[in-house]
Amino acid sequence: MNKNIDTILEKLKSDIYDDFKNIVNINSFTTNLDGVKKVKKELKGIADKLDIPLETIYSSQKTRPHLMYGKDLKEDYYAFIGHFDTVHPPQSDFQTMSEVDGLLKGPGTNDMKAGLIVSLYSFYILKHLYPNQDLPFKIFFNSDEEVGSLDSQEILESEFKGAKAAFIFEPGRPNGEIVTSRKGIGSLEIEVVGKPAHSGVEPWNGINSILGACEIIQKLEALNDYEKGIIVGCDEINGGIAKNVVPAYTKIIVDIRFSTIEQQRKLFNDIEEILRSKNSVGATVRYNLELNRPPLQKSQESDELAKLYMDIAHSLDIECEEIATGGGSDGNFLSAMGIPVVDGLGAVGNFSHTKKEFIYKESLIYRIKIFVLFMSQLLKQ
Ligand SMILES: [Zn+2]
Repeated sequence: MNKNIDTILEKLKSDIYDDFKNIVNINSFTTNLDGVKKVKKELKGIADKLDIPLETIYSSQKTRPHLMYGKDLKEDYYAFIGHFDTVHPPQSDFQTMSEVDGLLKGPGTNDMKAGLIVSLYSFYILKHLYPNQDLPFKIFFNSDEEVGSLDSQEILESEFKGAKAAFIFEPGRPNGEIVTSRKGIGSLEIEVVGKPAHSGVEPWNGINSILGACEIIQKLEALNDYEKGIIVGCDEINGGIAKNVVPAYTKIIVDIRFSTIEQQRKLFNDIEEILRSKNSVGATVRYNLELNRPPLQKSQESDELAKLYMDIAHSLDIECEEIATGGGSDGNFLSAMGIPVVDGLGAVGNFSHTKKEFIYKESLIYRIKIFVLFMSQLLKQ
């Protein structure tokens, strides 16, 4: 089997790199809808060539296109998940792929256009290895993951209820690690409203919203528990208008992370309690607390899948461990639906979301090999 895959990969190699370069060289910043549509078209072309007809799919909002294969599959299938948007705006000077010392650098190389190529070519090779079998794979590539999958979350949640397991082709970490848990993410915006007054003449008649905000920040800060994976970061604050006016308005923006759903429930309760309790200056507090992504939590099944993947990598003498990360992905939504998720199955690289972003050129090929061998094991079970 190993040799067989090597032979097929050798033949496909130049196509794999060409296809990859073509999709990297089209800007698909999330809000650049023109570019997003162009990459979508290019991906459809690649998938057609590989006989994996992707169809364009929309949410009920119909705001932007996404891609799917295997829409008719309702249960007992494996989900392959990825996104084709990137964080690199069209105005940036980082637009095309270049090869330097075995690295492929470019916008979205690591996060995660390489992962799309890994999933499509793996599927193609598996079809060759199992010509008489219907492969139960359902693919979804969305175009808004980088902004929290606001439009596509609905499709993920309605289309993937019956998945046996979900494989997310986000990048592998710098040493080839796969991702087996991710923190959940919440966001909180707080407005503290006081009362203006001349601060040189009658400050006692004002209500200082900055003071109120500071009190709240101290209390929120005390909720941090890094060891348990709880982060409450008061990361941005804006307030006041001039040196001689008691500030009547202050806004605080808070980033929230947690490792389990139970933590999230308790944390949200604690936060609301703080925000509803009176502050000593008498400022009014308004807030908006939201759950953006539930955590991607390990289960016995996901653990077994990850171990199988790592064992296969090790049998090929390829470094591959597992890692937990604070960043979210669409794997978080699927995990919250009770589906076993293994994430970080794309190529191996580093510096996502920066102009230094790259993948190791070779990893595009050997990650396909690992995934093909991994799926072969699953198909035999
Ligand atoms: Zn990503």
